[in-house]
Amino acid sequence: MDHVECVVAGAGVIGLAIARRLAGEGREVVVLETEGEIGTVTSSRNSEVIHAGIYYPRDSLMARFCVSGRAALYHYCEEHGVPHRKCGKLIVATTGEERERLASIAERARLNGVADLKVISDAEACALEPALNCVGALLSPSTGIIDSHAYMLALRGDAEAAGALFAFHAPLQRAARRSGGITLAVGGETPMTIGCRLLINAAGHSAPQIAGAIDGMPGEHIPKPYLAKGNYFGCTARSPFSRLIYPVPVAGGLGVHLTLDMAGLARFGPDVEWIDHIDYSVDPKRSELFYPAIRKYWPGLPDGSLVPAYAGIRPKIVPPAVAAQDFVIQGPRDHGVPGLINLFGIESPGLTSSLAIADYVAELAAAA
Ligand SMILES: Cc1cc2nc3c(=O)[nH]c(=O)nc-3n(C[C@H](O)[C@H](O)[C@H](O)COP(=O)(O)OP(=O)(O)OC[C@H]3O[C@@H](n4cnc5c(N)ncnc54)[C@H](O)[C@@H]3O)c2cc1C
Repeated sequence: MDHVECVVAGAGVIGLAIARRLAGEGREVVVLETEGEIGTVTSSRNSEVIHAGIYYPRDSLMARFCVSGRAALYHYCEEHGVPHRKCGKLIVATTGEERERLASIAERARLNGVADLKVISDAEACALEPALNCVGALLSPSTGIIDSHAYMLALRGDAEAAGALFAFHAPLQRAARRSGGITLAVGGETPMTIGCRLLINAAGHSAPQIAGAIDGMPGEHIPKPYLAKGNYFGCTARSPFSRLIYPVPVAGGLGVHLTLDMAGLARFGPDVEWIDHIDYSVDPKRSELFYPAIRKYWPGLPDGSLVPAYAGIRPKIVPPAVAAQDFVIQGPRDHGVPGLINLFGIESPGLTSSLAIADYVAELAAAA
């Protein structure tokens, strides 16, 4: 049986950032991935937005890691030539009641350390984006967009340059605690048994299931997984906007917003659809809800211009009735299993937070 120092299960953006960080410290790292490539699951099915850190509850892990992760991510993109653009975002109010809420959103952001939000008038917003309909807005200059695939390739390159090894088609199936380490049963094309001192469970949707297959992992620390699909629609009309446009958030979601990709193409979404099984198909009928929501802030959206694009699924660990969840990152002090770190519920802003999460996991690893 091979023995390695650290095994990371999952080569999404989170597992990649962690592998890069740990290998960069000189640790021996093996990454196990079920699929044949990096980042094919949630990490390639998102909005590719570098979030500022506006809406998350004060002192939550999401607020902390989004703000510090955003700064680290912009720096990383500059240094590594990862395509990105700090295009900014407008949160637009289309009613008087929504306009009243802009100041409190700005205040919450300020408490999270986002100091650059600015309340602007309808005239100022329309001067920036003439196609917009609004009665006032918040401008977030530090929101941006990123080519998430180029970012993940860069993370993998760094990890490999520091000696990390990647095994594809290699799903982690079970783990058991042995003296001085953890023994892993790996399935797939070449089933094997590996011993390690440190196991990082960064398997996204499968993280709770993997935790349940670790001998000795207490059940009360394993969250129940839920799936909340986010559907996206592309737009055949040319986007008149150069910034991301978000409505004032509604209960339970950010509302149907417009994001841009690095090529300047507009897409709308994600909405929220709770589902029981993984299914990435987009029902064209859902566009009926998108048109009126978008026309509140973009009255010029042409009829018939929305086309189903793709969907991503949020790895939820709270049921629909619960409005918000936080990232859950557990080390041995939390669950009592030496050498094990679990990451659960890494939904948005996980991409933005990835480098900060990796730093945090490295701290836990030093103490594990
Ligand atoms: C609709 C949507 C929009 C989003 N938009 C944004 C955004 O704009 N900005 C932002 O910051 N964040 C955004 N996010 C969040 C971001 O996409 C996620 O936080 C991030 O991709 C999670 O990465 P991950 O590595 O944890 O998970 P994943 O990308 O799912 O990776 C987990 C990996 O583990 C592998 N795996 C599973 N089981 C096993 C096993 N047994 N053994 C080995 N490997 C295994 C999987 O194959 C997969 O590759 C969005 C998320 C969604 C759903």
